[in-house]
Amino acid sequence: MTVGAPHRVVVIGGGFGGLFALRVLRRAPVEVTVIDRTNHHLFQPLLYQVATGILSAGEIAPPIRDVVRHQPRTTVVLGAVTAIDLTARTVTAHQGDSAHTLPYDSLIVAAGSETSYFGHDHLSRWAPGMKSIDDALELRGRIFGAFEMAEAESDERRRGEWLTFAVVGGGPTGVEMAGQIVELSQRSLQRNFRNFDPRSTRVVLFDGGTSILPTFGPRLAAKTRRDLERLGIEVHLDTLVTDIDDRGVDVRFGDGSTRRFAARTKIWAAGVKASALGRTLAEQSGADLDRNGRVQVLPDCSLPDHPEVFVVGDLMVLDDLPGVAEVAMQSGAHAARVIVRRQAKGGEGPGQPLRYHDLGSMATIARFKGVAKIGRIEIAGFVGWVAWLVVHLTFLTGFKNRVSALGHWTVSFLGRSRSERTITEQQIVARLAIEAQGDAGRTL
Ligand SMILES: Cc1cc2nc3c(=O)[nH]c(=O)nc-3n(C[C@H](O)[C@H](O)[C@H](O)COP(=O)(O)OP(=O)(O)OC[C@H]3O[C@@H](n4cnc5c(N)ncnc54)[C@H](O)[C@@H]3O)c2cc1C
Repeated sequence: MTVGAPHRVVVIGGGFGGLFALRVLRRAPVEVTVIDRTNHHLFQPLLYQVATGILSAGEIAPPIRDVVRHQPRTTVVLGAVTAIDLTARTVTAHQGDSAHTLPYDSLIVAAGSETSYFGHDHLSRWAPGMKSIDDALELRGRIFGAFEMAEAESDERRRGEWLTFAVVGGGPTGVEMAGQIVELSQRSLQRNFRNFDPRSTRVVLFDGGTSILPTFGPRLAAKTRRDLERLGIEVHLDTLVTDIDDRGVDVRFGDGSTRRFAARTKIWAAGVKASALGRTLAEQSGADLDRNGRVQVLPDCSLPDHPEVFVVGDLMVLDDLPGVAEVAMQSGAHAARVIVRRQAKGGEGPGQPLRYHDLGSMATIARFKGVAKIGRIEIAGFVGWVAWLVVHLTFLTGFKNRVSALGHWTVSFLGRSRSERTITEQQIVARLAIEAQGDAGRTL
């Protein structure tokens, strides 16, 4: 750093970790650059509501520029970080054909994770993941498109394929998706079709483990399973998905037997792996990676031998902390506080260890039905759903988005309709078309 020049902090990622770091740096005497490959901060826990027509994309994904508009010392760069040089202390980001290299004095890497198909990436062709606005809009196109195809189909068996939805993964995202597709078919789509009854929709949920929502404990897990089955969802645990194609899903049950489920719409909610930037950091610093590619950090979230580099959120491994939003928020804010404190002390000194406060986890099963685990307290049913509603409203970014989401929830949960049912051809085919073009099809 040049003497007298402001301390330069680069933040990679404007997700939960990055955003909470930016909040702490708001008033600090440092120059901040945040780089993200999308123009928005994404509230991922509500992606399933964009996919099922309850919320609009904008309500859960405000532009990062707008979020930091009152932070004059913060610059936003739209670009995909492709290289980090820990020796030269630079970050290189690509935007189209051009590359920008930015120097840093402190670096916070909050690049999160991406969908994992556990080495079987070809499955993504027919089973989109749930990690981005693109994913949610593609799924919206596929889900509402399937009902349109069912209306046009005269053969009962083929119509049944269009009306069967297969969800892979029994964590909160899989449970929420399955529950919402049932709500759609039982309530929102009533009287919309002439050739079939949407209530004949079939939803099948697969998970390789022995429990739904395993992190919520056995009691809430069992209750959730009962609630899902009461809604008519077929739950298959101890079941591995072995293949997926345009017409269905092949599975292997725990007893070794196999079966094919005919289903036109498949949703992959089974797993994530860390951003590839984790490997870049590990190779240069000697930090360990876990099997999901997450970087083992020191107690203050910094990299071994690089006190100026912090890894936070889904990309870090520390004390068995889970990959959830709360960990990302607290670790992002913590890393920023270490930087601010150091600056106040002349730029040197060890960081304090992160002390994580577990505020619990929650998920919705359907309208007015939720589960929440806060420490030893377990809540289910309507109270669990209200807890979910309050927490999600509180954490949604931006006052305008909170008001607008509340309006849409009132329409969907008290009434029957969904405001965001528009689908386009591009939603369904754009991802595959871009992939087919390779790098030439990408803007970032
Ligand atoms: C569908 C879904 C539902 C979830 N539900 C819950 C829930 O109910 N409760 C809960 O606590 N957690 C939930 N989570 C997990 C939670 O969203 C994550 O733990 C959290 O988002 C992690 O924050 P992060 O900042 O580490 O990463 P992210 O929020 O993923 O942010 C990473 C950011 O980095 C950017 N980025 C990545 N790579 C690059 C690059 N090379 N160059 C530039 N930018 C890059 C991305 O565009 C993104 O903006 C859910 C996740 C998903 C996907």
